Amino acid sequence: MSATQAQVKPERKRSREIFEKAEKVLVGGVNSPVRAFRSVGGEPLIIERGSGQYLYDADGNPLLDYVCSWGAMLLGHAHPAVTKAIAEQAGRGTSFGVTTELELELATLITKAIPFLEKVRFVSSGTEATMSAVRLARGVTKRDLIIKFEGCYHGHADSFLSQAGSGLATLGIAECPGVPQALAALTINVPYNDLAGVEKVFSEQKEKIAAVIVEPIAANMGVVLPKEGFLQGLRELTKKHGALLIIDEVITGFRLQNGSAQTLLGVQGDLTTMGKIIGGGVPVAAYGGSAELMNNVAPLGPVYQAGTLAGNPLAMSAGIATLKELAKPGIYENIAANAKKLVHGLKNALAGAGIAAQVNSIGSLSTVFFAPEPVADYTGAKRSDTKVYARYFREMLNRGIFLAPSQFEAAFVSANHTPADIDRTIATAQEVLKSLAA
Ligand SMILES: *Cc1c(COP(=O)(O)O)cnc(C)c1O
Repeated sequence: MSATQAQVKPERKRSREIFEKAEKVLVGGVNSPVRAFRSVGGEPLIIERGSGQYLYDADGNPLLDYVCSWGAMLLGHAHPAVTKAIAEQAGRGTSFGVTTELELELATLITKAIPFLEKVRFVSSGTEATMSAVRLARGVTKRDLIIKFEGCYHGHADSFLSQAGSGLATLGIAECPGVPQALAALTINVPYNDLAGVEKVFSEQKEKIAAVIVEPIAANMGVVLPKEGFLQGLRELTKKHGALLIIDEVITGFRLQNGSAQTLLGVQGDLTTMGKIIGGGVPVAAYGGSAELMNNVAPLGPVYQAGTLAGNPLAMSAGIATLKELAKPGIYENIAANAKKLVHGLKNALAGAGIAAQVNSIGSLSTVFFAPEPVADYTGAKRSDTKVYARYFREMLNRGIFLAPSQFEAAFVSANHTPADIDRTIATAQEVLKSLAA
């Protein structure tokens, strides 16, 4: 199906009916705010099933998926090996509340792929992973303050809900009611890529900073790359001042290669958090680091953290099957080649339409910012014309291509996207961008 043949404005009657009913019993009709499509307008999607690179809505319309469950589905939807692993485990039981060999297996796959993680603890969401990593950092250093970066998103734990990316950026929530002022005061925000800013905070607060938490590649204000030396500078400053460096790899873990982004970027945090891909679309996240550090977590140490469904066998099975697939040769090269083709095509399409924009990208991650200047931090990202993004999003969706329903997110290319899918996406973008410029 070529771009021009694509049906414009597919009928979504059944989806609409479901959403209207959902609004009565679910807050905003959703269980996570960005799913309501508030910042881009148009009707929220109701999805019935997914297969490979496609989603199918409740009216049966196919959508070429660049959201990929916010990055979790690197192998695409209903991957046969992952589906088989989940189904087989379901037949053996779904939760036992004690340890299984599956936990050992997934932990081994992760620690083999990321050798500087000697021990990990599994939890069920990225939020839990970052929250627990910060607790551990505070417990070990016996300090209270943390430094985070504007526009980075580390989940919805109280300490992270100021100047944060993702849904908070989308909805324009700078400070969240319900977070005690006394707790919010313990989080210091610095612009991403502003090493001098971090240095200043350290020189003022010296022995009070427990940790710096950072996305090694920011992907929740749209994609923003770390400047040369930024992450290394954080490493040096934290070491010098006895603080821990927490690298939040919930998006980047296993995304750019079979392992950590830290190896690629030449930095090594004290604690690493992961989520999304390592669960293959089932709730799994983890935090890890050296054995010495992780041994401070209960039951070996006094820093308490627990979970009824943590290390859940269904979720572990999905994670194991996913990481085994990702260890096969050629997967990442293929994804990166398709993603590069997409970025190249989009840049040409934007230039062809005479639209000033920035396309930030690395590996399978990319974001089109409708901004005339390069985007290197949250202030820059917020200069993007979100109204233009919203129109771009809606017109692409009308033509069967599902991009992130917010300017401040990434587009994700999966292992299932084909060169033909990319060609179709570029042709569609050309048509849409021309109409936006007109
Ligand atoms: C998605 C994300 C989180 C939060 O993970 P949840 O599973 O949504 O709680 C934390 N950090 C980063 C970098 C993320 O992208």
